[in-house]
Amino acid sequence: CGITAFTGKDAALPILLSGLEKLEYRGYDSAGITLVDDQGLYTKKAKGRLKDLEGMLDVPSFHQTTGIGHTRWATHGVPSQLNSHPHTNAANTISIVHNGIIENYEGIKADLKAKGYKFQSETDSEVIVHLLDYYYDGNMLEAMKKTVNQLDGSFAICILTTDEPDTVYVAKTASPMVLGKSENGTFAASDIPAILEYTKDVLILEDGQMAKLTPSDISVYSFEGESVDAKWTHIPYDI
Ligand code: GLU
Repeated sequence: CGITAFTGKDAALPILLSGLEKLEYRGYDSAGITLVDDQGLYTKKAKGRLKDLEGMLDVPSFHQTTGIGHTRWATHGVPSQLNSHPHTNAANTISIVHNGIIENYEGIKADLKAKGYKFQSETDSEVIVHLLDYYYDGNMLEAMKKTVNQLDGSFAICILTTDEPDTVYVAKTASPMVLGKSENGTFAASDIPAILEYTKDVLILEDGQMAKLTPSDISVYSFEGESVDAKWTHIPYDI
């Protein structure tokens, strides 16, 4: 029920975890992270509290500067390690976190299974990573465009791919997502307090928008792939 993402100059893991802590008020039953660098994806997830996840990680030893994090409030599939986010494709080259509900996941899942896709979890969310895998041919924004236009319901999604280990892609409709930018990198989260410690320059993503985050820049697009002029806000106070 909470999402964080970072790409920049600093180690991503402490930033992801501190952001997730600030989103704890939203409630959750499990938590997970994926970090990425030129060695590939590193995913860890756990049922229970954020502290349980942290306990499984030697936080200072992770130097990756790009990652995504998630706290889950289960809607489809029991709270469990397998149903926790992030979800990855079979090749372990794409990882996603999702807040919200994919209303039409059953039909999509049946189609993907017919195409040979194997599912690890009982979640509605897992269809997203396999759809991206199906459509991806080297251009993630194109794959996202095809994927999001097939999804009904509510979603805030963050995506990593090993092809671009210093990039985070996001998309949202009917679930909250804010983006932030500082000299050290760019951020995404479900709510402003999760990033306010790092930056006061925020962009509240609108429904039907997706974005590409690199360490120095954020580009916003419509679900049709058209470039959008983003409205940045400076938060003049501490929450
Ligand atoms: N519907 C998804 C699930 O059950 C995401 C829930 C959430 O927003 O945390 O895994």
